[in-house]
Amino acid sequence: LLMAYDPARRLAKLQVQIDRAVVNAQMIYALLDTQPAQRETPDAKDLVVTEARVELRDVVFSYANGGQILRGLNLVAEGGQTTALVGPSGAGKSTIINLIPRFYDPTEGQILIDGQNIAEVTKTSLRRQLAYVSQQPYLFEGSIRDNIRYGLPTASDADVEQAARLAYAHDFILAQPQGYDTPVGENGITLSGGQRQRLSIARALVRNAPILLLDEATSALDNESEAAVQKALDVAMRGRTVVVIAHRLSTVVKADKIIVMHDGRVVEEGSHAVLAQRKDGLYARLNNLQAPAIGIEI
Ligand code: ADP
Ligand code: MG
Repeated sequence: LLMAYDPARRLAKLQVQIDRAVVNAQMIYALLDTQPAQRETPDAKDLVVTEARVELRDVVFSYANGGQILRGLNLVAEGGQTTALVGPSGAGKSTIINLIPRFYDPTEGQILIDGQNIAEVTKTSLRRQLAYVSQQPYLFEGSIRDNIRYGLPTASDADVEQAARLAYAHDFILAQPQGYDTPVGENGITLSGGQRQRLSIARALVRNAPILLLDEATSALDNESEAAVQKALDVAMRGRTVVVIAHRLSTVVKADKIIVMHDGRVVEEGSHAVLAQRKDGLYARLNNLQAPAIGIEI
């Protein structure tokens, strides 16, 4: 029994990691318009987006076998603006991003997009309005073109190329042995971290969705890739409602609104200029702890 204990514990740990990875992959797949919608109310209507304003109202949430993760959370991401989520690890930032495409539903409270409760709209119409860029850029088995087109299966070759140009990926794609037809993934060529990220940004861009969910990468790229990825993200964010889990001070400083989370609640919100002045605030503390380092999450 003693001997069995340790491996079992390790396995349990591994299971948690796998679950997280699955959620992350689910996020990608679900936003690819390929999954049939489930758990819809019978009279679900299509979501109609005008300003793309996202609101969480009194949201309480627990994962299936755990304690409360979000404890009555209120936040608004205004249409066309960038809202940055910051706060210590475990605060619930990724959980918020998981609730918007309805991987999970709040235990209590509501999420509204332009005033419509997302629990009452068809999932297809909801997810069509969302694009997601994750921390880890996933590449699927297939060509570069396929990998971008996953974002919107009906996209034409011209749409794919346009998205690649916007994501500063077109030039390095053309430099590959077979251009857009070059195979990537397990059996394909190896791309650098920055190139993979730009492909995943192109995949999000081809959807041309008004709401962008962004989990900013923590791992540093070399300076040149970093600059290219940042330019691609700037294009992707322009004119969209962006909810970004921000790890870089530069992203936080540029955001229209910063939401500081702690332990499943919003503890502060405002612009960088305002929050940084509140010397006793969590934001100022996080900011000081990290300055001049890049990451703001502790
Ligand atoms: P953050 O992104 O701010 O670091 P998360 O939203 O990832 O925080 O996690 C908030 C809490 O929820 C943490 O305690 C984490 O362990 C837990 N958690 C996250 N994902 C899951 C999951 N799929 N199942 C159970 N608990 C989870
Ligand atoms: Mg997270």
